[in-house]
Amino acid sequence: MSSASLDNLAIHTITTKPWAIETAATKFAAAGVKGITVWRDTLNGRDIAKTGQLLRDQGLSIVSLCRGGFFPGATAADRAKALDDNRKAIAEAHALGAPLIVLVCGAVPGQPLTESRKQIQDGIAALLPDCTAANVKLAIEPLHPMYADSRSAVNTLGQANDMVEAIKSPLIGVAADVYHLWWDPALEQEIARCGRLKALFAYHVCDWRTPTIDLLNDRGLMGEGCIPLRQIRSWVEAAGFKGFNEVEVFSNRLWAMDQDEYLKRIVSAYSAHV
Ligand code: ZN
Repeated sequence: MSSASLDNLAIHTITTKPWAIETAATKFAAAGVKGITVWRDTLNGRDIAKTGQLLRDQGLSIVSLCRGGFFPGATAADRAKALDDNRKAIAEAHALGAPLIVLVCGAVPGQPLTESRKQIQDGIAALLPDCTAANVKLAIEPLHPMYADSRSAVNTLGQANDMVEAIKSPLIGVAADVYHLWWDPALEQEIARCGRLKALFAYHVCDWRTPTIDLLNDRGLMGEGCIPLRQIRSWVEAAGFKGFNEVEVFSNRLWAMDQDEYLKRIVSAYSAHV
């Protein structure tokens, strides 16, 4: 399979975390990057609508806002607070001009995962009127099972597809991230199923390092690990996906290097491995 088109390259603001969003926008555009996914923390203290315009003025498509979710809670008050924060995220996405919010769905340590999944599904369903009013979609991002304690009770693409089927709204789909899903023996068939559901909303790429020395902030740049990126992209494209390939890397090691140099590496790693 040939390399992915540079026209489909998007980068998450967190990938180059040391840069403010204005810097990231200028540098991404100059490097030929066409899309940007905005992490909410980068909007702190800014006029969100103006920031959205600034990104579009650089020729960047705003792919999504990261992130909403964290629906489960031990008490009804906790769960209501989570819904409030998600409504705030929907308003932010609308102001920014982002068509999609990525959901890290949440989990409560000690609470059965089945109960957390029920709370997640109920939480997403409760947001549907807000999504419709703002014209903002939500993407359930299944997370690797190592995060099932506190970050997400949705750990496979199969579970995310089940939830999409149960909620039955064209506004609710899935963000498939290779870091979380590459190991799953059912991945090819679940990507195809996600395509049939017309629910494959986003595709995130990076790599899995051996050994991984930090559960959160030791992702690899594409080509530094063992994820079969070309194979997975072929499944994603066979499922009808035509969107951006979003580079999402959390790495203490890569954040510590010169970010201009790092951006060059991102673009060449994208051409060589995605
Ligand atoms: Zn992701």
